[in-house]
Amino acid sequence: MRALVYHGPGIRTLEERPMPELSHPEDAIVHLTRTTICGTDLHILKGDVPTCQPGTTLGHEGVGVVDATGASVSSFKPGEHVLISCITSCGRCDYCRKGMYSHCVDGGWILGNRINGTQALYVRIPHAYFSLNHIPAGADVEALTMLSDILPTGFECGVLNGKVQPGCSVAIVGAGPIGLAALMTAQFYAPAVLIVIDPDRNRLELAQRFGASHVLAPDGDTVGQVMALTDGRGADTVIEAVGVPASFELCEDLVAPGGTIANVGVHGHKVDLHLERLWSHNITITTRLVDTVTTPQLLKAVTARRLDPASLITHRFRLDDMEAAYDTFGRAADTKAIKVLIEV
Ligand SMILES: [Zn+2]
Ligand SMILES: [Zn+2]
Repeated sequence: MRALVYHGPGIRTLEERPMPELSHPEDAIVHLTRTTICGTDLHILKGDVPTCQPGTTLGHEGVGVVDATGASVSSFKPGEHVLISCITSCGRCDYCRKGMYSHCVDGGWILGNRINGTQALYVRIPHAYFSLNHIPAGADVEALTMLSDILPTGFECGVLNGKVQPGCSVAIVGAGPIGLAALMTAQFYAPAVLIVIDPDRNRLELAQRFGASHVLAPDGDTVGQVMALTDGRGADTVIEAVGVPASFELCEDLVAPGGTIANVGVHGHKVDLHLERLWSHNITITTRLVDTVTTPQLLKAVTARRLDPASLITHRFRLDDMEAAYDTFGRAADTKAIKVLIEV
């Protein structure tokens, strides 16, 4: 079968790989119909993720049809349409029982990292009964592909951890796929001010279309502009969706007294924490790896047409054109890519 395989920093090839097989009674094999590329896949290709060994099929997002199930998988049957969660979870360990699926002792983010992933014709899903979601008949499978990772990530790590409330002010730093997912799901709570900050004009236009009340390109006075929009207080919730020291430090400048900085970005370097200024401001800083506990809720919101994540899809490719898909996604500033959808 065709698969997009990581072969060490900077090297990826679309090649023939053996079909995955059931290796545990709780496994399922899923025949992918749609998959997509994530910023995390680009991190792996840069060599930033040492847990991903050369020879691993990339990808942790996708929808498909169950092809085979192990003897212990009673809740899914061959032929059923499923949404794959980027987080694999057993549902039984201490972490899973606390809803922290991301830290499952026999799972977490393993797909397309420690085990072969979804950028292929077929994928093996461990703990299938907990790591798959049923797709109702007639649902928009392309929209649901956005629910494997980015929508629950923006919602759980940004909006829920950031305690977005009706009438509050929110500043989202970074308007990539995750920042835009946070923007979409923050509106469940009707914040009064919803500011998106990003240097990319195209992304700011999208943010405006997706419901931002104000968009800002960072300049010398980004802080002053946010203060002007928030009665001089700063934002009650600041969502960091970039993952570099400068953007996190901007969040420290933007947060209102009593507010929350919800970090979503994947950081590769240490960041300065300005406690000399913030110690008395009653702020909260949160970090989280997505647990995908909200996926069933988001799935219902999409099927009820209360949420339209398909609008994040900017480009479409076939699995055979995976090289072009990576090239387009990797040069997002030029190609204006947000999410590229791969038809398998
Ligand atoms: Zn992802
Ligand atoms: Zn577990």
